[in-house]
Amino acid sequence: MTMTQPSAQHGAATPDHSALLRRHGLRCTASRLCTLRLLSASGQHVSTAEVCAQLQGMGLPFDQATVYRTLEIFTEVGLAHAVLGPGPKRYGVSSVPHHHVVCEECGRVQDVAIAQMSEAVERITELTGLHAGAGGSLLLYGRCSRCST
Ligand SMILES: [Zn+2]
Ligand SMILES: [Zn+2]
Repeated sequence: MTMTQPSAQHGAATPDHSALLRRHGLRCTASRLCTLRLLSASGQHVSTAEVCAQLQGMGLPFDQATVYRTLEIFTEVGLAHAVLGPGPKRYGVSSVPHHHVVCEECGRVQDVAIAQMSEAVERITELTGLHAGAGGSLLLYGRCSRCST
């Protein structure tokens, strides 16, 4: 019998989340695994409430306190990063460091690649003496394209 993989492409693109958890010294619990899977699949920065709602929609009713703790642990071990904005804290996962721009109106968070901002970061260092932190992340607040019209 030949096994064809209908979703070979999808399968290959799915990272091993349990291995990722273990690599960060975390025990592999259902809530951690589901939260991590959801975060990385979304490719967005999401709040605790949004994660909860989406998990519930998938039939995984973890309570907010559990999800909040999970997200905080992810942030502590460097698996996720938190972005402060108006409204709730939002969390993202990405192995690639990036800057954030946050809409102060709707709280939407967008990523900007480090390389695209290198001149601006150099200029900031020149002007203020401030060097980018370990994550190298800038946080800029403004109004997104949807809110500024
Ligand atoms: Zn981010
Ligand atoms: Zn906005």
